[in-house]
Parts: sequence; C-alpha cells; structure tokens
Amino acid sequence: MLHCYVHIPFCRTRCPYCDFFLVTRQDLQERFFRALVEETRLRSEELRGRSIRSIHFGGGTPSLAPPALLGGWLETLARFSAFGDDVEVTLEANPEDLTPASIRDFRAIGVNRLSLGVQSFLPGKLEALGRRHTASDALRTTGEALDAFGNACVDLICGAEGETGTDWREDLSAALATGVPHISVYLLTLEKGTRLMRDVRKGAVVLPDESLQATMYETACGMLGEHGFRHYEVSNFSRPGFFSRYNLGCWHRESYLGFGPSAHSLVRRNGEEWRRANGRSLMRYLEAPGTAGVQNECLSERERINEQVFLSLRLASGLDPTVLLRHHESPGKVLATVGRFRTEGLLADAGGAIRATEKGFLFADFLARELLPG
Ligand code: SF4
Repeated sequence: MLHCYVHIPFCRTRCPYCDFFLVTRQDLQERFFRALVEETRLRSEELRGRSIRSIHFGGGTPSLAPPALLGGWLETLARFSAFGDDVEVTLEANPEDLTPASIRDFRAIGVNRLSLGVQSFLPGKLEALGRRHTASDALRTTGEALDAFGNACVDLICGAEGETGTDWREDLSAALATGVPHISVYLLTLEKGTRLMRDVRKGAVVLPDESLQATMYETACGMLGEHGFRHYEVSNFSRPGFFSRYNLGCWHRESYLGFGPSAHSLVRRNGEEWRRANGRSLMRYLEAPGTAGVQNECLSERERINEQVFLSLRLASGLDPTVLLRHHESPGKVLATVGRFRTEGLLADAGGAIRATEKGFLFADFLARELLPG
C-alpha cells in the first residue's frame, strides 16, 4: 500500500499569506513534467510491485497544469506500479482556472476528486485574502466539481482582516449549501517572509485576535458537526466515507512517495524508515531531477515515536497510550500530564485511545510536546 504526492510548484501570483515552495512563471511547465517523468523513472524500484492507494497533486496550483501533461505522468507511474481499484486521485485546484471543459479533461486522465482552494464565498473576504477568484467562481466551480465527481473538498480560511463571527458563519453556511462532502478549515496564520507578515508588522493590516479565531474554530466544529460532518483531523471535516485517503494515510504514517521539488517521502525498507526530502530549487530539479538537493535521513526509533505522537494527537482516532508508557522514561509523570489535560478538557478517552478534544485540537502541537518521550 503506497500513497504518492506530486508537488507542482506553479502559481499565477503569490497570495499574501502563502509561504509554500512555488514559482510564478508558467513557461517551465513542459520542462517540469519531463523532469517529473525522469524522477519517476529513476525511482521506479521504489514503486515496483506496489499498489497505489492514493495520488495527490498538490502545489502550487496543479489546476494550471495542462491535463495532457498530468495524464502523461500518471501513465509513467502506472508503468511501474499497480493502481488500487478504488485509487483516490486528488487535484488541488483554484476556482479561477476551472471550466466545465477542463474538469472533463482532468476527469478523463483519471482525477476523481478536486480539492478546491475556495478559501471564502464572500467577496470582501476574498479581496482581503488577496485571492484572484470571485465568490461566483467559487460557487460555480464547487457545483461543477460535484456534478462531475460527486466528491470534492472545499478549503476555507478563517481570521481574515475585518472578518467577524457573523461573516464566518455566513461563509460556513455557503459552503454547507453547496452540498460538498469535505471541508477543510484553516486559521489564517502569519508565516515568515510573507507579505501579510510584513503588513501586519507595519500595522497596515490588523487581523482578528486569537480569541476571535478560537471562537471561529469552535463555530466551525459546531456547525459542521450539526450537519453530519465528522471532525477527523484538526483542520478536516468530512461526511462519512469522504475523508481524504491521501492525508489520512500520511497522518497514519503509511508509506508515501513525494515527487517534485520540496516533496517529502516516507519510505520503509529492511525494517528501517527513511525520510526523503527533495531539494527546494526548481532550476536544480529541472537539471537533475530525482537527485539534486535530495536529503535522506534514517529515522531513529525516538524520531518515529515523536512523529507518531505529533500526528496522532491531530486525529480524532487519537493515540494508543501504551506508545507513551512504553517509551517514556517516567510513565508516572506522563500519566499525571494526561490526567491534567483531561481535567482541563483538552484530552479525552476514545475507545482505549487518548485523543485531543475539539478544544484540545487548537493546542494539538503543544499537547504533543508536553507528552513526548523526549
Ligand atoms: S494559490 Fe495556493 S499555493 Fe499558490 S500562492 Fe496562493 S495559497 Fe499559495
């Protein structure tokens, strides 16, 4: 069982809050896909005999890529591996790129799920976020994606400049009204080196404070829960059966291969676990795909456990407490910490596991750090 990720590092422009690895020139798409095919060929031994459960085209903006080039890469992948019968093939897409014809083309090459970078259905908020699409683009493409695939995910951001609790409820209602079965909710965060960070520091932009953001998150948990969505990860809500297989696979630390610049892989061989990180330079990737800037690191047992704790506490399925007890130098101390977080309403029991509560999800990384074996 294997998951595949492809990082397609092209966007038309950089959104003010975004720090992802990407470039804004489009003339390199064909060269990029030739390099991607080459990297896949060079890594064919990692694929051979494996059954692919999910493929995720992320970025950047994969919906800017010509479907024929994406399809060509999928054919290369299929030469070296088998696709599971119900393989999930997700394409991250921006509403302004999609038309009924492009959706048909993506479907024809095997895409069966769109993850839409909607961020908001409200015109003023889209403007505040610096997005290129309009509210009607967002509504139109969500409807078209659902018609074509019966499956789609809408990403929403909360905490934009000037946003109120009422705006946020309106946004959530608009997303629910589309009938989309998966909604991801992200709190707007300030990332280093972004235009948003500079604007906030200068005082040119004022964002809602942390307590309003926390209230917005609680509102999302409440409204989406009332509408039958399961809150299966800190930022992710889905109707039964519509969770993201790719994301859930990564969070459960199943093996995945990442292709393209900056992509990461988790590879198991001979009883060892390896983390592979592709380099973060597009030009070097084009010159030497699959080798330029690649870093491989064999994970120690301690690193594996730490990853498991961090990731499990972000999931509704939670963490098997024996993982903590087995690896912690002082089991009594960790039990006391778990007890304290239970009392504070941050952790709860879940069928033998311990899990973060919805309030605890807001502090998932802090909880993990407090509980880590070291
Ligand atoms: S479209 Fe997405 S990946 Fe591209 S700059 Fe905006 S937020 Fe970042």
